[in-house]
Amino acid sequence: MAAIQDSTAGTATTVAGLESTFADELSALTVPWQGAAAPDPQLLVVNEPLAASLQLDVEGLRSVDGVGVLSGSTAPVGAKPVAMAYAGHQFGGYAPILGDGRALLLGELLTSDGRRVDLHLKGSGRTPFSRGGDGYAVVGPMLREYLVSEAMYALGIPTTRALSVVATGRDVRRSGAEPGAVLARVASSHLRVGTFEFAARQGEILQPLADYAIARHYPELTELPATGANNRYLRFLEAVVEAQASLVARWMLTGFVHGVMNTDNTTISGETIDYGPCAFLDAFDPSAVFSSIDGGGRYAFGNQPTVLKWNLARFAETLLTLIDSTPDDAISVASAILDTFDERYESHYAAGMAAKLGLVHPIVDRGLVDDLLTLLAQHGADWTGTFRALADELRGNSEPIDDLVPREHIEPWLQRWHGALTEQGRDAVETASAMDRVNPLYIPRNHQLDAALRAATDGDLVPFEKLLEVVTHPFDRREEWSDYTEAAPESFSETFQTFCGT
Ligand code: AMP
Ligand code: MG
Repeated sequence: MAAIQDSTAGTATTVAGLESTFADELSALTVPWQGAAAPDPQLLVVNEPLAASLQLDVEGLRSVDGVGVLSGSTAPVGAKPVAMAYAGHQFGGYAPILGDGRALLLGELLTSDGRRVDLHLKGSGRTPFSRGGDGYAVVGPMLREYLVSEAMYALGIPTTRALSVVATGRDVRRSGAEPGAVLARVASSHLRVGTFEFAARQGEILQPLADYAIARHYPELTELPATGANNRYLRFLEAVVEAQASLVARWMLTGFVHGVMNTDNTTISGETIDYGPCAFLDAFDPSAVFSSIDGGGRYAFGNQPTVLKWNLARFAETLLTLIDSTPDDAISVASAILDTFDERYESHYAAGMAAKLGLVHPIVDRGLVDDLLTLLAQHGADWTGTFRALADELRGNSEPIDDLVPREHIEPWLQRWHGALTEQGRDAVETASAMDRVNPLYIPRNHQLDAALRAATDGDLVPFEKLLEVVTHPFDRREEWSDYTEAAPESFSETFQTFCGT
């Protein structure tokens, strides 16, 4: 059983079971590094179920030595912490060296079901990749990542997870002084499209990286040959295209706006990563942008599938030399795989929308979905609230949907929807229950998250803890949680902005 143990001397800490296959096998992509000492580390939140699934002892994590490790102050005995190198296209422009400028890979752990995951720290101090940055992170944004990633997990959306946030006791300069913090994050891996962009330009390391990624994320492909028409690199590209098409469809179904879909924030595993400027839609609006630095709307809600496909094209480019030694042939087979993205995305989205509307897939009337989206956009209807309101309508309670879209405008659409349900022989009440199982009641609403993070930054964690409890039970209606289904006041939504890398 893995545990964080205090040594008798009280200075050395071990995290049993910590391995470092990435640092050992791909050292050309890492720089051994140590976190900055935190002046006064205090544990703000720790994820007990996640710790248990990693076979970590929660009491050990809460101990002085455990908090030392989670703050980056002390490296566990035998660990080989590294900063990972990567490149990336940011807002379309290529940055040849990004890398972990304020993060460290501590190592890897095996989950109780045998999966290898990374244990990673964010906000742990300057590294050789810091460029002009201070290497730190602050309490608000780290708790934001903690809460939103755990909400995504509870919604069943592939994501990195949060193990803990430790306040470091250091004042960090942002717009004013803010309390410093370190997030401990767990991910299937931290391999990104940007890791491949970096490796492809280094040359020799590319193939070992691709083989490592295949073994770790798509082990069913390891037996395929390295060359030939059905080589493993081509199938690897296809597997990543599929995983990411499925992921972005889940975002679109949930109203999630990532906010900074640079290629360094696009994973090879198909998990959502980096919750900097993300937000959830209140009113449905394809052009919704929340990030303060995305004036052009490149990463607007409705653009996400297109941008993802663009990122995957950058990924495909990195694999061309492995896919076929004749460049033209490599381009033609890789392009054919990329061209499957739209169909894959559409099929995941359509299946998800069918479930949200209580219909069996495939939906016969594709216009039914598009016409609903048009109505919701015209009336600025709350995305999350709409699908619960439709289930209520099936149970004979029309008030919720009437509050969102005036009856005279939605009535013809409701008639068509009822018609489709009847045609599919679906019982209304059973259908409503099935819809409630896929349509969340509680999401991290921007105004509530904002208020909780402000309070936490001022030292009051209670609103954060309560919101965390609610959004990690997104489908379970509880009377005392009714406030959490309320859309943001207009005065809030008009000015709400999110910030990157803060
Ligand atoms: P992100 O926008 O968080 O995905 O980060 C993009 C790049 O900026 C990565 O290379 C980060 O390591 C780096 N970065 C972000 N914030 C900081 C910071 N405060 N200090 C150093 N590097 C940073
Ligand atoms: Mg990033």
